[in-house]
Amino acid sequence: AKLAGRNTFRFFTPAMDARAQARSRVADELAGALSGNEFHLVFQPLVDLKSGKVTAAETLLRWHNRYLGVVSPEQFVPLAEELGLIRPIGEWLLTAACREAQKWQSFGLGDIGVAVNISPRQFQQGDILTIIERALSETELAPRLLTIEITEGLLLANSEEVINKLDRIRALGVTLSVDDFGTGYSSLSYLKTLPVDVLKIDRSFVADMLENLDDATLVDAIIAMGHSMHLEVVAEGVETEAQLAYLTENGCDSGQGYYFSPPLNPTRFRDFVIERSGL
Ligand code: C2E
Ligand code: CA
Ligand code: CA
Ligand code: CA
Repeated sequence: AKLAGRNTFRFFTPAMDARAQARSRVADELAGALSGNEFHLVFQPLVDLKSGKVTAAETLLRWHNRYLGVVSPEQFVPLAEELGLIRPIGEWLLTAACREAQKWQSFGLGDIGVAVNISPRQFQQGDILTIIERALSETELAPRLLTIEITEGLLLANSEEVINKLDRIRALGVTLSVDDFGTGYSSLSYLKTLPVDVLKIDRSFVADMLENLDDATLVDAIIAMGHSMHLEVVAEGVETEAQLAYLTENGCDSGQGYYFSPPLNPTRFRDFVIERSGL
C-alpha cells in the first residue's frame, strides 16, 4: 500500500503538472497556428558534389508563435500528429513547397527539385496519394521535381500497404528518398525490393566518420550499396571541408548541410542558387 501510495504520489509531482500544463498550452496554440499563418517554410540547398551546383532543396517547416517563440519541428510534428493536425498542415506545406519550386522554374533558375518530409504517421493516412496529386496539379509542378522523404522506419514495417502506396507515388513520376538512412538496419537484399530512388545518409554518421572507423565504413558501404542498386546517395549534415572532401573522394553524389548553407527563407534561397550557378 505504501509503494502504491508513493507511486501515485509521484505521478502528481508539481514538475509533472507543469509539464502537462505546458503541453496543453502548446496544443492550444498549435490548433490555431495554420489559420493564423504562423507556419513558414525554409529551404536548405542540396549540392551536387561534382559540379558544386544546387540541384534541389529540402523543405523544412518552421513555427513562429507570438507566445512560444520559434518551436522546433522535432517538438511540434509529433504533437501535431497526436492532435490530428498533421493532415491539414502537411497538405498546406506540400502545396506551398510545390508552388515555390514552380517559381524557381518560371524565374529561370533551372531544374531545381524540392523535397518534402512525410512522417510515418502522415504516410499511413488514407489519402496521401491524393494530397500529392492535388498539390502537383494545382501548382503545375513537373512531378519529377518533387521528392518525398520517408524514413527508414516506415520501410521496415514492410507492410504491403506501404509498398503499394510507394509504388503509386512513384508511378506519378515523383522521386522517393529514404531519410536518416543507416539508423534502421536495412539489409541490402531488403532494399532491393523497395521502390526508392535516393538514400540519404543520416547526419550522425557524417558527423563522426572522420574520427570513427565504424562510421566511415558504414558511409562507404551505403555509397557502394546505393550505387550498386542505381540509387542516388546524399549525405546530410555536411559541416566541414574535410567531410566534403571525404564524401567526394568516396563517390557520394550530393551533400546538404551547414558547410554549404543553413536552411534559408525563399528569397535568400533563390539568391543562393543564382550565386552558385553563375546565372
Ligand atoms: P531531417 O529531415 O533530418 O532534417 C534535417 C535537419 O537537420 C533540419 O533540422 C536541418 O536544419 C538540420 N541540419 C541541416 N544541416 C545541418 C548540419 O550541417 N548540421 C546539423 N547538426 N544539422 C543540420 P530541423 O529543420 O530542425 O528539422 C528537424 C526534423 O524535423 C527533420 O529532420 C524532420 O524529421 C522534421 N521536419 C522538419 N520539417 C518537417 C516537415 O515539414 N514535415 C515533417 N513531417 N517533418 C519535418
Ligand atoms: Ca529530411
Ligand atoms: Ca535526415
Ligand atoms: Ca533526422
